Amino acid sequence: LSPLSEVDPEIAAVLAQELDRQRNTLEMIASENFVPRAVLEAQGSVLTNKYAEGYPGRRYYGGCEFVDVAEKLAIERAKSLFGSAYANVQPHSGASANAAVLSAIAQPGDRILGLSLDHGGHLTHGMRLNFSGKLYEAHAYGVNEETGVLDMADVRAKALEVKPHVIIAGWSAYTRQLDFAEFRSIADEVGAVLWVDMAHFAGLVAAGLHPNPVPFADVVSSTVHKTIGGPRSGFILTNNVDIAKKINSNVFPGQQGGPLMHVIAAKATAFMLAASDDFKDRQERTLRGAKLLAERLVQDDMTSLGVDVLTGGTDVHLVLVDLRKSEINGQEGEDLLHSVGITVNRNSVPADPRPPMTTSGLRIGTPALATRGFGDVEFTEVADIIAEALKPGADTAALSARVRALADAFPLYEGLESPGSWA
Ligand code: PLP
Repeated sequence: LSPLSEVDPEIAAVLAQELDRQRNTLEMIASENFVPRAVLEAQGSVLTNKYAEGYPGRRYYGGCEFVDVAEKLAIERAKSLFGSAYANVQPHSGASANAAVLSAIAQPGDRILGLSLDHGGHLTHGMRLNFSGKLYEAHAYGVNEETGVLDMADVRAKALEVKPHVIIAGWSAYTRQLDFAEFRSIADEVGAVLWVDMAHFAGLVAAGLHPNPVPFADVVSSTVHKTIGGPRSGFILTNNVDIAKKINSNVFPGQQGGPLMHVIAAKATAFMLAASDDFKDRQERTLRGAKLLAERLVQDDMTSLGVDVLTGGTDVHLVLVDLRKSEINGQEGEDLLHSVGITVNRNSVPADPRPPMTTSGLRIGTPALATRGFGDVEFTEVADIIAEALKPGADTAALSARVRALADAFPLYEGLESPGSWA
């Protein structure tokens, strides 16, 4: 029962260094967040010891009476948060949720139609090297390459041409709300199953700040660790009893063995917190922060340098910086921001003239900083730091000091002694 620092000082050092990094820099990767202490406690718990193959009340192992309570709470809270009739909370990740969804609603070789990866789609929506591109006949629709906006007439035309078995609506890099009613009507017109992957915007949906796909889709998948700010994992929702049964059998035993009960307990806590007023306030600050950043980056001092914002702004928790006309490429932009203490990721933009490892875009998200407590004042300052950092000859020492001042003003995990123990 010796502490980690004694048993494995090398890994203890990694935890300590990572905690320092998270505390002292500004995390703006759009898919990341900081889980609350309560979620960390549930996840770093003795529930990691328990095997519980099966579902609550129908397990293949003894001793599941307490973990059953945790999973039932997670299921009930997920259903109530998103208004669905059924929920499966066992997927280990977003990708495994998506594998289970596709195996439940399609047969290998069936045609699937999703947003193209280089226009903001996800690997699991049909990328050639992913299971979704290998097992299914994957087709893609795209955004308008000039505006970056999804035109539903193009989606409809593509669906009529491909006649897919499954239409996928959802994204990893897009800045406008999807028209779920229109997706539903296109799916009905071509006789397709409609699957919405709300991994990115689920937190906004939970807060009532983004349309809810559940009433429109046959099945909805999501992660828990992005805007929701829960443990790294996935879940699946549906209102259709037949699909619900297929989802359950395709998660276990179809895709997975024993569920991660410590993570499921942490999901339950995250779903409970996501129903609170505090959570709504946090999602509102997330959205306003992204809008402030977009407004700053389309000002003349930036557009004259070829820096622009895809779709001209944002309705969600992220901004896509368009560097197609800039001297700086995505890799350089990411490195410049890293050098002042801001973490973002480079991202391909539609019709990107640069290769995928370099790219002409940056994806910058506000969820983690909103969780840290940032509001309009701080996001205005962050937006200005980012704008200044992307200019030639930026004073990186001065910008780093401004970043550090913001980080220091919003301490993260106060009382958490590295590694892993609370004061
Ligand atoms: N779906 C979408 C839309 C995503 O953006 C992501 C993650 O980036 C996933 C699924 C996969 O989630 P995970 O990384 O947990 O497998």
